[in-house]
Amino acid sequence: MFFSFCRFSVFALGSRAYPKFCQFGQDLDEHLRKLGAVQIHEVGKGDELCGQENSFKEWAFGTFKAVCDIFSIEVADNLLATLTASDIKWQPSIYRVRPVANTSLNITQALSETHNQNVVNCRLISRQNLQSNDSNRETILVKLEIAPNQEMKYSPGDHVGIFAFNSTEDVEIVMNHVLDRPQDFVDLKVQRQDSGFWKDQKRTPFCNLRTSLTYFLDIHSPVSQSLMEALATMATSEEDKKVLTCLSKDVNAYQKWRLCCGLSFVELLQEFSSLQFSAAFLLTQLPVLLQRFYSISSSQLHVPNQIHITVAVLKYTTLSPKCPRKKFGFCSNWLNEIPIGSEVPCFIRKENSFHLPENSELPVIMVGPGTGIAPFRSFWQQRKEEKSSGSTKSGKMVMYFGCRRLDHDHIYQEELTIMQFQGILDKVHVALSRQPEIPKTYVQNLMEATSSEIYQLLVVEGGHIYICGDAGMAADVTKMLMEIIKKENKNKNPDAVMEILNNENRIHRDIFGALALKLSSEESTSVACIKCS
Ligand SMILES: Cc1cc2nc3c(=O)[nH]c(=O)nc-3n(C[C@H](O)[C@H](O)[C@H](O)COP(=O)(O)OP(=O)(O)OC[C@H]3O[C@@H](n4cnc5c(N)ncnc54)[C@H](O)[C@@H]3O)c2cc1C
Repeated sequence: MFFSFCRFSVFALGSRAYPKFCQFGQDLDEHLRKLGAVQIHEVGKGDELCGQENSFKEWAFGTFKAVCDIFSIEVADNLLATLTASDIKWQPSIYRVRPVANTSLNITQALSETHNQNVVNCRLISRQNLQSNDSNRETILVKLEIAPNQEMKYSPGDHVGIFAFNSTEDVEIVMNHVLDRPQDFVDLKVQRQDSGFWKDQKRTPFCNLRTSLTYFLDIHSPVSQSLMEALATMATSEEDKKVLTCLSKDVNAYQKWRLCCGLSFVELLQEFSSLQFSAAFLLTQLPVLLQRFYSISSSQLHVPNQIHITVAVLKYTTLSPKCPRKKFGFCSNWLNEIPIGSEVPCFIRKENSFHLPENSELPVIMVGPGTGIAPFRSFWQQRKEEKSSGSTKSGKMVMYFGCRRLDHDHIYQEELTIMQFQGILDKVHVALSRQPEIPKTYVQNLMEATSSEIYQLLVVEGGHIYICGDAGMAADVTKMLMEIIKKENKNKNPDAVMEILNNENRIHRDIFGALALKLSSEESTSVACIKCS
């Protein structure tokens, strides 16, 4: 067999919040075996939500041992342990901070360098809640202005990456636990000892600790197990040490804690008040603060100097019935709270696989419940401008939108009506999942009810379908598409039709929502973690 010379082991990365956890890695393993390659160690799976580093260590240990066995290499156990130890693990003796001459840091430029992106400051010019006052949720239309001297080009379907900042209050909470708290005017660099020499570390820019904590370090995501392990050694109270040690060593206890409390670094410091650490610890061990992506909801043909986004303001309560906690998404709430006129650092990410077809005469079917509608606003704005300039003949545009209730969260209702009236959108189908006195309906149900129309536009007329929203919905819609092809296509093999659509890149997906974790009532009563029970 072609691959019989190949020995392999796969480590797959994923998140249990998504369906088909680590499926790609699993499939890769299966395919390699089918091609004749020899699996030397079973697939390892790293869950972003829990214990990823430990899973990797276990897999790396097993794989390395298997390799040694196969090649008859004798390795001492202590060497194996060293090989699989994490080199980012906190070792106080190998890190230090040193003052540097004032760097007069330009934050935007530093964000560009840290993230290897062309970050530009846009200005927040307007924010509007698109849901009604009767709804207990918020979805906001955020309008950002591009400064005249800035070059920022995007196409409908592209994403914008946004950097939010940590608040002064939260940064102060962290600073209060720093043993060697440096003065705010002292810029710092981090050094790591390597073969007897101190070498500069450039993970984040050289600047004062407050600036690092405000713009470059993540203090809001749930604390990882490896960070917890390091923190356990820094608690000065025995009780704090005991709980943190248990959480850092026991995967099950940690998993329960993630569901029950899932504390961020800032929240953890409030619960475990005896924690004390050095500036070097923060600068080397806290994760780097990352951008959040948003599908652009505007067309530059319509608003040349603006970027619009549609943001669901994330608020949820943790699952513990005993001590539920209110949680607020970091970036979406920041965008909802900063004053109008604030600067918002951002960059454009091209999403070539989600652009409108080059031939604008081709039909376009858009499926986007909730905030999944976000990129489609850029599509209809683009088609409207193209149409009014008379430059092209536009193909049909059909929208499948879904929300809970017409009077709560039918976002962009007025705009959709106008677009229909102006002949930009040919049809708008709205699925309502919680409308009183109406059976629950989802976008895939409406697709089923209009299957002949979908088949005509997509298969017969060579159109494109765009699906945007959470992974579960996208899977259901894809399944329904297959059903529609099966039903409407009397002669051909539906798999062959699907293959043509895929090969011609006529099915486009923009997936961004994880599944909310759900527990059975039995599970939820046992979810109280070591800290709460
Ligand atoms: C390519 C792409 C395009 C996107 N486009 C859009 C868009 O157009 N509009 C939009 O609103 N968002 C969009 N998103 C999502 C967006 O990037 C952010 O993830 C979202 O705004 C939340 O970020 P946050 O900082 O507010 O929340 P965070 O502080 O990052 O918190 C999010 C985390 O909270 C946890 N969580 C969320 N809900 C629950 C729950 N019910 N129970 C337990 N834990 C929970 C999950 O671990 C989740 O990862 C997009 C994402 C990607 C990758």
